[in-house]
Amino acid sequence: MKIILSKAQWEMIGKKAGWTKEARRFYSEEDFEKMIASGDLKMIKETPSSTVYKDEYENTIVTATYVLSYNYKNDPGAGYSFPCDKNGKILFDEMGGGSKNSLKFVKSNLDKFLAPVKEIRTDIESLCNCGSGLPREAKYDARGIFLTYVCPKCEKDKLAKYRPDVLSNPSYEADEPIEPDL
Ligand SMILES: [Zn+2]
Repeated sequence: MKIILSKAQWEMIGKKAGWTKEARRFYSEEDFEKMIASGDLKMIKETPSSTVYKDEYENTIVTATYVLSYNYKNDPGAGYSFPCDKNGKILFDEMGGGSKNSLKFVKSNLDKFLAPVKEIRTDIESLCNCGSGLPREAKYDARGIFLTYVCPKCEKDKLAKYRPDVLSNPSYEADEPIEPDL
């Protein structure tokens, strides 16, 4: 199976998400399908509740998870979401104790909630550019200035290019370039 998103759509998702480690957005199934346009996504893994894709172009891992959402009638922006399968059947095995209690609460207060809606929740993780296939993490110097993205595999090598005091001493001397020669 091949799922395709255009670069513009990815940029929209990334902008909204701020490209944080775990970007999380909810889509209707229809909207998610509409986002399928151009550029390749390879399916890596499928479980009853989710599908994991690799985007070679953006170097991201996208996890699309089905959830069944119950929103409050008097506050439709708030409510509860439970893992479900493609048919909207709640998957109790994927729920922790807290979720099970929430579901009990919802089931005994159904008059307070709108009819449940099936949605797709997407988690986007940017992968490291070193080719490890691992998620990346932003590294900052001792003054909080962004340096580079690293993963557990390349962190040591990448940070070795910086002067040790730049990483540890907030009042480091900065009259020479902070960027390493690449
Ligand atoms: Zn890396």
